[in-house]
Amino acid sequence: MINKKIGLCRREILKGTVKDPEEMGKLFMTDGDLKAGLRSALRKMWTSSTRRIFIEKVRFPDTSSSRGKWLVKCDECGDVMPLSAKRYGLKKDGTPNKREKLVYEVDHLESLTLIDIDKDLAKYVQELFFGEMRILCRYPCHAERTKKQKAKK
Ligand SMILES: [Zn+2]
Repeated sequence: MINKKIGLCRREILKGTVKDPEEMGKLFMTDGDLKAGLRSALRKMWTSSTRRIFIEKVRFPDTSSSRGKWLVKCDECGDVMPLSAKRYGLKKDGTPNKREKLVYEVDHLESLTLIDIDKDLAKYVQELFFGEMRILCRYPCHAERTKKQKAKK
C-alpha cells in the first residue's frame, strides 16, 4: 500500500503534476517509513560503536580453553555463553529463522521508544548510545523481556 503510494507519487513528480513541496514530502516518505529508517540507521551506528565497546568491557576469558575464547554472562539467569556463539531462533510458527543469530542480545535497561519524532528522537539517541546496557541471553530472558514490553504498550 505504502509502496504503491510512493511509486505513484514518483511518477506524478516526474510528470510535474505534484508541485506542492509539502505534499511531495508527505507522499515520498510516510512517518512510519521515516521512523523505521531512523531506528535502523541509528542502531547500525550503535552496533559499531557503543555496543562494541560495551561488549569489550563485560566479556571475560574462558579459562577452561587455551584458545583464548571470550564469554559473556546473562544478567538475568546467569547463563554463560561464548561471545561468538550463534543459533537458529524459532519464528512464531515454530519454524527456524533464515539466519543464525547471536545467542545473546545487548539490552537497554530503559526501553527505547520512537513514537513521535519531535518528542522522542533526542531521548531515543541519548538512551541508545549512552543509556545503561546489559547482556541478556536471547532465549528465554530477552524474549520474555520483549514480550513484557509489548504487553505494556
Ligand atoms: Zn538469561
